[in-house]
Amino acid sequence: MKITDLKCALIGDSPIVRIVTDEGVSGYGQVETYKPYLGPIVMMLKPALIGQDPTHVERVMRRIRNRGGFKPWGAAVSAVEMALWDLAGKAAGLPVHKLLGGKVRDKVRVYNGAYRDPITGHNPEDYAAFATAMKARPEGFSIVKIPVAFHTTMTADVPDFFYGEHEQRAFHSHINRGLLTEKGLDHVVACVEAAKAVLGDEIGLALDCGPGWHLTDAIRFARAVEHLHLLWLEDLLTGDYVHWVNADVYRELTASTSTPIHTGEQIYLRQNFKSLIEGHAVNVVGPDPGDVGGIAELKWIAEYADLHGILMAPHGTGNGLLGIAALVQVSATMPDNYIALECPAGKPAWWYDIVEGFDDPIIVDGFIDVWDRPGMGIEFNIEKASQYLVAGDEDFFA
Ligand SMILES: [Mg+2]
Repeated sequence: MKITDLKCALIGDSPIVRIVTDEGVSGYGQVETYKPYLGPIVMMLKPALIGQDPTHVERVMRRIRNRGGFKPWGAAVSAVEMALWDLAGKAAGLPVHKLLGGKVRDKVRVYNGAYRDPITGHNPEDYAAFATAMKARPEGFSIVKIPVAFHTTMTADVPDFFYGEHEQRAFHSHINRGLLTEKGLDHVVACVEAAKAVLGDEIGLALDCGPGWHLTDAIRFARAVEHLHLLWLEDLLTGDYVHWVNADVYRELTASTSTPIHTGEQIYLRQNFKSLIEGHAVNVVGPDPGDVGGIAELKWIAEYADLHGILMAPHGTGNGLLGIAALVQVSATMPDNYIALECPAGKPAWWYDIVEGFDDPIIVDGFIDVWDRPGMGIEFNIEKASQYLVAGDEDFFA
């Protein structure tokens, strides 16, 4: 089998990758909905792919891996990797999980991710209301993650929250950074306690916290919520769109508290998890298959983390329906350090009409059943999907 073409079309807000072969089979991958601008970066990879056998996934990846970087720049390489696995599975007539070693679980636990109502404010009553709504959702999540502090506009909404000025930035605009006031820290703790009071011990609570905390505040906060038995505190120090790892500082935080510390969604490649994992700098890692370099990269990090007593909870909020498929296939193969994946959704909702292969509903009692159809196991309904192709992309499925 040989790759004859690489195409990329914007469907909704997601650049969709299609690898075309000489055997009439195509592989598909999806870039996050938050990266509609990424198409040209995908197409930059085309000359390195033409003529290659897509079923030798790693051999092809060696040709393009040096064209990625920390989020957002690893997304193009990652989407191509997922399309290669889709092709390799279809060519072999096997689900991707079998090519990665086979599934060790028949269903994978997921947490809310893209399934959430907006938080209407950033006071304890708003957090209680959010938790109440999450608890009532039909997906039956056993884990819910809630954004707090610098991962929200609490910096603007709560007076004297921190010793800094809330700044609306050009990219990833609401993320600020600075030292919290005593009032600010107490406010975050009160919000978390309000959410926890609703969820009780029935639903595990994780927090998306930053990035933006200074180490001293992070330690104070992690200790202040120790009694709440949280699943993890995510991205206190670094995180989304931060182009470094900071493992030594994370290690100091993690060693200072019994509350589990989590990071990694923006990191590209296994090598950049080395210091976090070998240094026991965090308790949980959360690479995104759509940013880290693909699903084999994610699988490798999960295995290596397990060797070091570190848990795995993959990121994925914006990865769309093709992203769910990729996350399910790889998560089914992970060792027992797997907690749950952050579940993407189809956005806009018409995405559910243009892709076939999912159960309806996809999520039952907080789990997704792992399917065994070839490749990633889902397919575009080309007739329906073609209606959503924008000008210039008309020949995407041709
Ligand atoms: Mg996050």
